[in-house]
Amino acid sequence: MPDISRRARNLGTENAFVVLAEVNALARQGKDIISFCIGQPDFPAPENVQEAAIRAIKGGKHGYTPSAGIDELRAAAAKYMAGMRGGLPIRPEDVVVGAGAKPFIAYAILSTTDYGAGDEVIYPNPGFPIYESQILANGAQPVPIHLHEARDFAFDPAELERLITPTTKLLILNTPHNPTGGTLSRRDLEAIAAILRKHPQVWVYADEIYSRLSYAAEFFSIAQLPGMYERTIISDGASKTWAMTGWRIGFTSNPALAPVFTRWITNTESCASQISQWAALEAITGPQDAAARMRASFLERRDLIVGLLNGVPGVTCRNPGGAFYVWPNVTEACKQIGVADSEEFRKRLLNEAGVAVLADIHFGTRVPGEGQHLRFSYAASKQAIEQGVARMAEFIAKNTRKAA
Ligand code: PMP
Repeated sequence: MPDISRRARNLGTENAFVVLAEVNALARQGKDIISFCIGQPDFPAPENVQEAAIRAIKGGKHGYTPSAGIDELRAAAAKYMAGMRGGLPIRPEDVVVGAGAKPFIAYAILSTTDYGAGDEVIYPNPGFPIYESQILANGAQPVPIHLHEARDFAFDPAELERLITPTTKLLILNTPHNPTGGTLSRRDLEAIAAILRKHPQVWVYADEIYSRLSYAAEFFSIAQLPGMYERTIISDGASKTWAMTGWRIGFTSNPALAPVFTRWITNTESCASQISQWAALEAITGPQDAAARMRASFLERRDLIVGLLNGVPGVTCRNPGGAFYVWPNVTEACKQIGVADSEEFRKRLLNEAGVAVLADIHFGTRVPGEGQHLRFSYAASKQAIEQGVARMAEFIAKNTRKAA
């Protein structure tokens, strides 16, 4: 057989999909599994969005669109992204529509670093695993910056100062953050911007896909700070805000890079689905009550799961400022039941208690001194949250007795 490239063999993945396969296999065997694995809203897309898609189909919107997206959506997304970010001067021609926000992670790395040139990309750890895998696949140098529980899972700007070198080309920020639900406060962002001003060669990729799911404070983007707009790639999309993950619509803005991203799209998927683009236009410009209801529901469930997890002996859980994830610390619980780490805990929790979660190692190398964590996506029913956490408490109690 001919060889498969080293790059393809070493390509990383989202372990959420790997765990999901484990969960599905158990479910097929008839096991009763409560899952907190999937990072997507547990709602259908709003009715008006569904109708817009049907209108697009019936109206013959079947062909390719320009690679950057239909003009109507670029204009609407520009206005929307600006409105969410203190009225930034985003023009329609600065916006590129893609098949989700995810492809822009690769396009940003491809457009700001050269293969094998030693160009460094700083990215959050723990973090969305695609950052690291795309940095590696595209021949750049991954430089993880650690998030700290004591800072509610923000990184320490002083650490950024230490990590930036003349060969740093890109800094990836993600707020609200997957997997911890943490947010970067305006003060953190100001400190980060102050450091970046001393390093004009560094681009910023602001992954703001959870911008509308910000609970702690009004959403604020680093692009709003002096000198940051031109060098920041703002990434947002329809997936999380309007429960449209499978529709595949993301939008990214940057005045200099928009034409470059457009060319990448011409070289890859040609354009995002035209039907989904018309639907996303309706999502952005139509009534926002469904999006508001979903957000309120996530906030309620955040409060529920944080309260319940903090009631489990051996578990502590910070109150995250956004997204739909919690990142409880299970260091004590691991000790109590005599397991080596969060991954062994996760596997036993799945097999013995029927509760599916992800472990910290699915989001990067465990941060030294930060202990053991799990990720729960609380985009699950209240009943699932109550039963899932009760099962976890029972699992810990039973095995604590055994270990003693
Ligand atoms: N960034 C982060 C941090 C995410 O969690 C996700 C989705 N899980 C994405 C980007 C990609 O979203 P999309 O569906 O728009 O591709």
